[in-house]
Amino acid sequence: MRVTVLGSAASHAGAGEACSGHLVECDGGRVLFDCGNGVLSNLYKVADPYRLDAVFITHNHPDHYVDLYSMQAMLRYAPEGPLERMPLFMPTGLFQRMQGLLSERGAAQFREAFELTELRDREPVHIGAMTVTPYAVNHTEPTFALVAQADGVRLCYTADTAPGPWVVAAARGADLMLAEATLPEPYAGASPHMTAAQAGALALEAGAGRLVLVHVWPTNDRTRMAAVAQSAFAGPVTVARELDSFEVTRKGTPS
Ligand SMILES: [Zn+2]
Ligand SMILES: [Zn+2]
Repeated sequence: MRVTVLGSAASHAGAGEACSGHLVECDGGRVLFDCGNGVLSNLYKVADPYRLDAVFITHNHPDHYVDLYSMQAMLRYAPEGPLERMPLFMPTGLFQRMQGLLSERGAAQFREAFELTELRDREPVHIGAMTVTPYAVNHTEPTFALVAQADGVRLCYTADTAPGPWVVAAARGADLMLAEATLPEPYAGASPHMTAAQAGALALEAGAGRLVLVHVWPTNDRTRMAAVAQSAFAGPVTVARELDSFEVTRKGTPS
């Protein structure tokens, strides 16, 4: 399994960045986890965006889904003619919220482009050779961390979340954990997000093999973030940049 970070930024994108989006690929499955602003452009750089098997959205904050509006147009005018509807998994209530920016016709076109399914806590979804399991976490209601399993390895994407047992449950035994690390350290606890130190502590508690920090505040000092996370977690730590790509290998195996 391989994961490519298409957007590393939290809430708003700094220069050359995009908001949340991660391409997860295995032999026989290619899915997108979140589709924030700028993600579709970066997807074009690394893959054929028409060849996705499914899209998953973790929660109803715009930095995780706004490029779905663009993707809807992309799908509608596919160069090789109309496509099958793209499977789209998202939390209850998000489509209703998105309709607020769509005309009646636009909403109908959205439903023609995507096949919508609502995510349910801990109900696995099978996409080709990949299994994706959502875990409810503590952020806005509802928000799901996503766990992808294929090729004998396990990837956990925490989505946005406060630290706590809900996200430990999702991350337990992950060979690679993509963890949000939004908050500068002085803001720990100020909103339902994690700092780099909390993401490091989570990786330790969950027994993760490798930690990749994402959802980074654009002005935060990434070098310092890596050092702070590393002081809590002994495994490999990376603060992701756009288009960084990671092979998910079994915990303890050199990558
Ligand atoms: Zn976010
Ligand atoms: Zn959020």
